[in-house]
Amino acid sequence: MTPVVLDATHDPARKSWLLAANAPATDFPLQNLPLGVFRTGTTAPRVGVAIGDRVLDLRAAVEVGALAVRPLLAEACCAARLNELMRLGAGPRSELRRAVHSLLADGSRLASDLAAKERVLHAADEVELLLPAEIGDYTDFYASVDHATNVGSMFRPDQPLLPNYKWMPIGYHGRASSVVASGQCVRRPMGQSKPASAASPSFGPSRQLDYELEVGAWVAEGNPLGEPVPIADAERHLFGVSLLNDWSARDIQAWEYQPLGPFLAKNFLTTVSPWVVTMEALAPFRGPRPTRGADDPAPLAYLDDPGDQAAGAVALTLEVRLASAQMRERGIAPVRVSRSDFGRMYWTLAQLLAHHASNGCNLRPGDLLGSGTVSGKGKDERGCLLELTWRGKEPLSLPTGERRSFLEDGDEVVMTGWCERPGAARIGLGECRGTVAPAADR
Ligand code: CA
Repeated sequence: MTPVVLDATHDPARKSWLLAANAPATDFPLQNLPLGVFRTGTTAPRVGVAIGDRVLDLRAAVEVGALAVRPLLAEACCAARLNELMRLGAGPRSELRRAVHSLLADGSRLASDLAAKERVLHAADEVELLLPAEIGDYTDFYASVDHATNVGSMFRPDQPLLPNYKWMPIGYHGRASSVVASGQCVRRPMGQSKPASAASPSFGPSRQLDYELEVGAWVAEGNPLGEPVPIADAERHLFGVSLLNDWSARDIQAWEYQPLGPFLAKNFLTTVSPWVVTMEALAPFRGPRPTRGADDPAPLAYLDDPGDQAAGAVALTLEVRLASAQMRERGIAPVRVSRSDFGRMYWTLAQLLAHHASNGCNLRPGDLLGSGTVSGKGKDERGCLLELTWRGKEPLSLPTGERRSFLEDGDEVVMTGWCERPGAARIGLGECRGTVAPAADR
């Protein structure tokens, strides 16, 4: 496995003829080129690439003859979702990256072709961004040992981590039908819960609605049913990453989760950011897996690979911001409530994927793997309110004087993520945003 292959598309010195793509703070410079699906007005969904403050329409770029790629790849670029591109795998994906890079780099003929430019570029704020792929299956993992330890210690102070945690990635099957793109409201779920003080459970709006800051990994090539993916090949089956918010109802979760795990506390909504940052774009930010503790077991052979050990981690900084309705009315910007490092996860994306397929379970292009809440050791690195407020005992204070143990109606949660290091162009994941709407009438 060789996750770190750098080429001219990563050169930080290269600039685009689109000036906004050269702004130091942009998420979408020439070196990023994330893929997504967008719509303008009433047109059918199309595949696009984010560049600066614009969206490049790949179908239009093929039609005007600006994007020179093989017919198979051109066909996938003209689809209404990313699944076809995902299915083609890493070789064609890299070919597309190089073609789009040269189209948008200084010196491209497109820069001086006004009619073609008009046709292939849209202002980003004038398009609707959709789910990037048709998601066949969604699985959510639990790969941050700091998150698992924090949550475990609230519920099992004597044994925060269960005995299996350091031996295998823990996960559960989520629900694909309720995964939505950034911007859609999250309606407060109704459900059954039973506070410790109550004699019997009741049904009503969740009172402990929470977010979970996660990274979503999209599957590229699948594997046939019955054929595991060796860890050394796992990277090849990854297409790229988005931000993911695993909205969670803690009161419903606490009452339902035993004996079979999360169910209605999780599947009412999951939000993803619409741009998929490809594994190629992440290449400059790969690094060694965090060193395991002296007492930790070495991964079993099917989860261990020298390439993954050397470069399986992704140095990706993640942030959560929160704004109440009152803050928005008073023009107060969302406040940062946490910042954490995806590079510190206990299990790598390749390990999650190899473990998932290790029993022969078939993964398919467009499947979504959630990393689990990304938390760190520090208090300001806790990736959900359950941890930040320690199950509501230590509420957060907002600039308006409001306090939050869990989310209130009208609260907006904004997640962002970016990679930066000396010698590389900074790239970002865009935004994963959602506002809490009141529960439906019973
Ligand atoms: Ca989760």
